[in-house]
Amino acid sequence: MQTVYNTYSLEKEGFSTIEKNKVRMYLCGPTVYNYIHIGNARSSVAFDTIRKYLEWRGFEVNFVSNFTDLGDKVIAQGEKEGLTEAEVADKYANAFLEDAAALNIEPATTRPRATQYMEEMVAFVEKLLAQGQAYEVNGDVYFKTNQFKDYAVLSHQNMAELKKNAAGRLDGDDQDEKQNDTDFALWKKEERPGVTAWPSPWGPGRPGWHLECSVMIDSLLGETIDIHAGGIDLAFPHHTNELAQSVSYHDKPFVHYWLHNGFVNVNDEKMSKSLGNFVTIHDLLADETIDPQGVRYFLVKTHYRRPVAYSRDRLDQAQQEVDKVYRTMRALGQKAGSAGEVDAALSEQLTLLNERFIGAMDDDFNVENALTVVFEALTLANKTLQAGGSAAEAALLQKQLADWLHIFGLDDFEEKRDLPVDAKVLLERRAAARAEKDFAASDDLRDQLKAMGILVKDGRDGQSIEWL
Ligand SMILES: [Zn+2]
Repeated sequence: MQTVYNTYSLEKEGFSTIEKNKVRMYLCGPTVYNYIHIGNARSSVAFDTIRKYLEWRGFEVNFVSNFTDLGDKVIAQGEKEGLTEAEVADKYANAFLEDAAALNIEPATTRPRATQYMEEMVAFVEKLLAQGQAYEVNGDVYFKTNQFKDYAVLSHQNMAELKKNAAGRLDGDDQDEKQNDTDFALWKKEERPGVTAWPSPWGPGRPGWHLECSVMIDSLLGETIDIHAGGIDLAFPHHTNELAQSVSYHDKPFVHYWLHNGFVNVNDEKMSKSLGNFVTIHDLLADETIDPQGVRYFLVKTHYRRPVAYSRDRLDQAQQEVDKVYRTMRALGQKAGSAGEVDAALSEQLTLLNERFIGAMDDDFNVENALTVVFEALTLANKTLQAGGSAAEAALLQKQLADWLHIFGLDDFEEKRDLPVDAKVLLERRAAARAEKDFAASDDLRDQLKAMGILVKDGRDGQSIEWL
């Protein structure tokens, strides 16, 4: 049975969908005001992997993920860069899509922006007001949390803790206007000159942050969805508030499975803009010695709920595993064809490995166990090639491995990294040494390159290299 861990129940639950073979999935996307860092990218990568696995299992996944293209962060960045809010949003939305493409993240079925749903958001708030679940104070509208009895469930905190945390975490809300500390803004009055405001029955303003996700889900996926995903820091207040307002709005269940990913940590601290310990994907990928698929694999190889510890060393270690994948997949590609027989024992082994792979991924997407299976299959592939396996056997192994690797975002097995500058210098020196027939120097340089993880081979056309 396929299971997923639901943050709502804190249990692994059997996975069944509202519509047969279809998954309605929503992931809270970024506020587009800056380049994303590795910590932000993790959520995109983790849920792209889950989406790809569900697709591989035969589900049609309607995957919606938003851009928050308004709010204080966008306004402040505009002031810094001399850009309008819309220009800031366009610039960083495009940067996000570029980074996502480099990391082999499949485009969302729909990528809505908050500013495209203004009328729907106003209508949503009007209905909550009409139903007595919200109240207006001086141009601001708040959600009445005490009329929603399960308000605290998803946060797994009691109401006293929530009240204590509410003041600091519900930024921008005017505490004096609220009936309860945990009430949150659905609509905020906006009167600052030069700042975009939208018309509403309560005067010009803008929506509270939580509103857009509820409204986009309602518009694009329906009243009840299968999977709502995001970083674990979103469980409260963001998802708690989405849940409260959506259930109040429809009086129907909102989400069947709440999935949350863990953080990326640097030296045991969460990678974040405010701590300044972040590395942007943009900067990382500007370094041509870095393979984007290596970055993807680094983020994907840890179970989505566990924290990922980032360091350049760990990224390089992940790259070595990716290099192993490349070498075997290229060797299989060279050999693969239709000629020859497939040994019955080999196809039986692959069937068993595939069953184990499915068992691992069906267990709340246990990528670690699934990757163990992938690496066993790579070893089997290398042994088959070394033992002079047939072209048909190579083709069978290649297809099975490529199918699995696609789920983890590894689709292209050609070398993509440029050599580090010091390695290039050593290679040039070695070519010169060989031209002068100084083989002692040439061997010494080959050893130095090997220590850097680069295997040098000599052929008729000179040196060629392979990553170890
Ligand atoms: Zn959201």
